[in-house]
Amino acid sequence: MARSHNFSAGPTALPLEVLQQAHEEFFDFAGTGMSVMEISHRSEVFMELGHQAEQDLRAILQVPSQYKVLFVQGGASMQFAQVPMNLLGDKGTADYLHTGLWSGKAIQAAQRYCDVRVAASSKASGFDRIPCAADYNLNPNAAYLHYTENETVHGAQFADVPDACVPLVCDACSSLLSKPIDVARHGLIYAAAQKNMGAAGLTVVIVDEALLGRALALTPEILDYARIAKAESMLNTPSTFPWYLTGLTLKWVLRRGGIASIHQLNQTKAELLYRTIDDSGGFYRNRVEAPFRSINNVPFVLADPALEPAFLRLAEQSGLMGLKGHASVGGVRASLYNAVTLQAVQALSDFMKDFAQVHG
Ligand SMILES: *Cc1c(COP(=O)(O)O)cnc(C)c1O
Repeated sequence: MARSHNFSAGPTALPLEVLQQAHEEFFDFAGTGMSVMEISHRSEVFMELGHQAEQDLRAILQVPSQYKVLFVQGGASMQFAQVPMNLLGDKGTADYLHTGLWSGKAIQAAQRYCDVRVAASSKASGFDRIPCAADYNLNPNAAYLHYTENETVHGAQFADVPDACVPLVCDACSSLLSKPIDVARHGLIYAAAQKNMGAAGLTVVIVDEALLGRALALTPEILDYARIAKAESMLNTPSTFPWYLTGLTLKWVLRRGGIASIHQLNQTKAELLYRTIDDSGGFYRNRVEAPFRSINNVPFVLADPALEPAFLRLAEQSGLMGLKGHASVGGVRASLYNAVTLQAVQALSDFMKDFAQVHG
């Protein structure tokens, strides 16, 4: 079997063990003689699977008991609207940190529901850093403060959880499960599964119970966190197959020794790639300030942009897939999610050195 090294930003690589287990169980899940796709979400076997995934996620992230874990659809982008609908209450205003493309999208979506205040922004410097906490202009009357833990396109990541005097909301779409996160410091955390947690179609929302029950009147019932929580994420048919794949991925995380060892390996992978870039004598460049360089997504450019098409083409011929940068910024981007092995990053690093030697 020829498996590519997959550096795609999402959907992206799943652990091979997860794919193999899904393959083995494809026609007959848990002795039912049916695929997990073919059984009722209200059947005992599926409910058990759903609860197990929740328990494993709680164990891995040490989610305190007063938090609800919701399994919803609509992607992280739907949370851009669902968060303000559910958390604004009677406040009418929310604070956002603007650190790249994704937080920009979150801001734009929220403007439909409230007065959005940008408490800090790194736009002026091209999103090459996370703004300094001392420069945050926080509103104590904001309904919440929203930040994007890892900017998947610009490759900047928070070094610390920001301090907030209001409930803190985190878009952790591209970093949940890749490093430890202190859930208790947050009011709400959300992430779609297709980066580090499984397949597209499932989004996890971790929300402090105390924030439930304040949805705006316009909120459809199906998007009301309190109702979703009460129905244990089964107000309607959930995304059953992605939920199952997330369950398998969480078991894989546990087998790998949990979040601390996953994080350690992710740091090693990122260091290897950044070192390759920084030691290339300017042939490759990443412009994010060192303390904020993402361990999940590493965007870089070639000093001579005319070489980019050849770089990407030869990379693909070497089995290094998904390296084209996001359309809005161009360049190259290597995403190093949990399922990307150190060997894959080593192969990329070797390829980059060879390419620079030939073309430098
Ligand atoms: C991928 C991503 C999103 C969007 O996720 P969808 O599931 O496609 O809506 C939002 N925020 C961040 C940080 C992302 O990486």
